[in-house]
Amino acid sequence: MSEFALIDRFFASLGARREDVVLGVGDDAALLVVPPAHELVAAVDTIVAGRHFPEDASGADVGWRSLAVNLSDLAAMGARPAWATLALTLPALDEDWLEDFAHGFGALATANGVSLVGGDTTRGPLTVSVQVLGHAPAGRALRRSGARVGDLVYVTGWPGDAAAGLAVLQGRLVAAGANRAVLTERFRRPEPRVAFGQRLVGIASACIDVSDGLAQDLGRLAAASAVAAVIRARELPLSRALHAAAGEARAREFALAGGDDYELLFTVPPAARTALAGLLAGGAPACHCIGEIVAGRGVRVVDERGDHPAPAGFDHFR
Ligand code: ADP
Ligand code: MG
Repeated sequence: MSEFALIDRFFASLGARREDVVLGVGDDAALLVVPPAHELVAAVDTIVAGRHFPEDASGADVGWRSLAVNLSDLAAMGARPAWATLALTLPALDEDWLEDFAHGFGALATANGVSLVGGDTTRGPLTVSVQVLGHAPAGRALRRSGARVGDLVYVTGWPGDAAAGLAVLQGRLVAAGANRAVLTERFRRPEPRVAFGQRLVGIASACIDVSDGLAQDLGRLAAASAVAAVIRARELPLSRALHAAAGEARAREFALAGGDDYELLFTVPPAARTALAGLLAGGAPACHCIGEIVAGRGVRVVDERGDHPAPAGFDHFR
């Protein structure tokens, strides 16, 4: 199969069909229409075999993940995703793997109304780079920098599950039956909080998605806002599966320092608490208050034994 046939077969019409795609895959570049009074929101993330996903991950899981990590970034901005481009580096032309990859990518793209509008295909060690483009009403996108002293800190979902799922796959944590299934699925198929992120616009004062560990990503939000944050360890939402597999103490470590959650971590000022309660009553994902913003710098964790600096998360260059 030639490169052209490959693109035509797997990538020419992947994801949603959109009226705002004037020109998609096939020309030198795509032509896209941004709605009036909106800002274009762009994010790119690269995932590398053996580094961001296990070498033996299925094509469908890799396709899903490559888009999910980017959709999570747009969710954290409160943006609506619309288009994606895909730079794919493949060690070989494996049609079964590609078909599987296109299924995983396409399922998540379609579910989120995202159209694949272009990309690049080269040979080399398996690396997938996806750019997602979307939009937000001008001046309204969520940022990391808006947290103020007195705001409460919230997180969606079940932080730590994905990191525990990876640990299970790598034999560092033992879990069986339903717990194993829940944890490994949370690692394999992150569900970016795309709709919820958009609903946080006008409610959250700051927002970040959790990719490198909750404590570390809260540290980034706090630094961007020039404030400090306190996490109350007892308030960390620990899933039943995580608690059963790891026990309370280790579960908290997974929740604080494990990566790959792709949950939203955000702050809410006192004046917006009623609005948040309304949002949560109306069918939002699980969402828990885990702490607050205080004066100072850095992140501290308060537990039964006192007050400690937060554990570090993941850093590729450390
Ligand atoms: P060029 O050499 O002009 O960059 P290419 O031959 O690389 O064009 O690609 C031809 C067309 O196919 C372009 O529209 C490009 O966006 C698209 N394309 C290439 N690879 C992919 C891919 N992996 N996914 C989606 N579209 C792709
Ligand atoms: Mg060209």
